[in-house]
Amino acid sequence: MTNTASPSDVGTDAETDLVSDAIAALLAEHDPKTMSAQEFRGCQYDHGLAWVYFDKGFGGLGVRPQLQGLVETELKAAGAKPADPGGFFLNLAGPTIHTHGSDAQKDRFLRPMFSGEDRWCQLFSEPGAGSDFAGLGTKAVADGDEWIVNGQKVWNTIAHLADWGMLVTRSNPDLPKHKGMTYFALDMKSPGVEVRPLRQITGEAEFNEVYMTDVRVPDADRIGDIGEGWRVSLTTLMNERSAIGSGGTPKRGSGAIASLVGVWNKLPDDEKTAVRRDEMMKLWVGAETLRLTTMRAGANRRAGNPGPEGSVAKLAFSELNKAIMEKAVEFQGPAGLIGYDYTFRRPEELSATGTETSVGHAFLRVRANSIEGGTSEIMRNILGEQVLGLPGEPRVDKDVNWIDVPRS
Ligand SMILES: Cc1cc2nc3c(=O)[nH]c(=O)nc-3n(C[C@H](O)[C@H](O)[C@H](O)COP(=O)(O)OP(=O)(O)OC[C@H]3O[C@@H](n4cnc5c(N)ncnc54)[C@H](O)[C@@H]3O)c2cc1C
Repeated sequence: MTNTASPSDVGTDAETDLVSDAIAALLAEHDPKTMSAQEFRGCQYDHGLAWVYFDKGFGGLGVRPQLQGLVETELKAAGAKPADPGGFFLNLAGPTIHTHGSDAQKDRFLRPMFSGEDRWCQLFSEPGAGSDFAGLGTKAVADGDEWIVNGQKVWNTIAHLADWGMLVTRSNPDLPKHKGMTYFALDMKSPGVEVRPLRQITGEAEFNEVYMTDVRVPDADRIGDIGEGWRVSLTTLMNERSAIGSGGTPKRGSGAIASLVGVWNKLPDDEKTAVRRDEMMKLWVGAETLRLTTMRAGANRRAGNPGPEGSVAKLAFSELNKAIMEKAVEFQGPAGLIGYDYTFRRPEELSATGTETSVGHAFLRVRANSIEGGTSEIMRNILGEQVLGLPGEPRVDKDVNWIDVPRS
């Protein structure tokens, strides 16, 4: 989950009592050690402990998001299995549907998404619309109580395993780009949806291209109003940045920095120079500062959906991970250049850092951190404009109808 806090952060009050009571009731009725993760997570949803800040009846208890940390800690202690890393997109789709979906959509989508029965992917980027995602061209044309969708998406992580996609389309080309977008839940098994692998620098094809040819999408699967796709997408994007940047409350010294320390510990004594120790310690302090800053930002947040602090955390996380893994390879000397297997693979699990496998894999995987979920340059623009209040960058196409914007 994205919004976590340790039990010591949550204090004691009526909301904490509510969550504690719900945890006790869940564990009294269901033993996570004897159930599958999917079954147990379904029951967790039913007790309002999926996203505690969501409304009652939709996987939440209507309490502050920080209390999710208490849930995670207590359920882990009771033997609940960790969330499937391939379920990363529930951190994006859940809040989006909770914020913008109808009650019928919340009823239909949230529980199977949280339990892991349904997997989701994100169909935002296009070959001509990444950073400028609002410039997207995938066409949605209304046809009775359905929409006909044609277009291509790209870099779609886990789309080959997904049951549903968060799809953003151009429903009105005769309006400025931000105003003519409409957001849908796309059934990935619909006729006309084709998913093709894209191989990345690690050798894996974690992501895909997704082609849509005359795909019929029921209007009942539209999330938010027609033309409101940009507003709905912002909820997805803010939650994505926060999920990548904070990743819950990591333990001190965990993640990429643990890989660097691991490499250091294996170095022969004569290679553990004072200069290297200094370089490693600077990165370690950077990692610890980021961890504490992210925890503080999370604890200060009262509303459910994150703001620009998620983008700032994402920027720091990406740049730091790259610096740490570069140092880890450098410490290894020539040995750092060999021993990596580039065989084509289709991973079933997701990891934003790849540190669970090998230093070589992590070094290559973290290169993507400063691109996925919005590039570091875009995060700096958000930091400059929304946090520091600097003048916005020139946006010459903002008020021009999408159809009239020159594009190649
Ligand atoms: C591992 C990985 C997984 C991904 N998963 C998904 C996914 O599941 N779903 C999905 O929809 N997308 C996904 N993406 C796509 C990702 O969101 C885009 O790659 C990203 O937004 C950048 O878009 P782009 O690749 O088109 O690059 P561009 O937007 O073409 O950018 C090229 C360069 O120009 C810079 N640039 C662009 N505009 C500006 C500006 N205004 N100011 C300063 N610099 C600028 C960028 O920072 C970058 O360096 C994934 C990407 C990666 C690497």
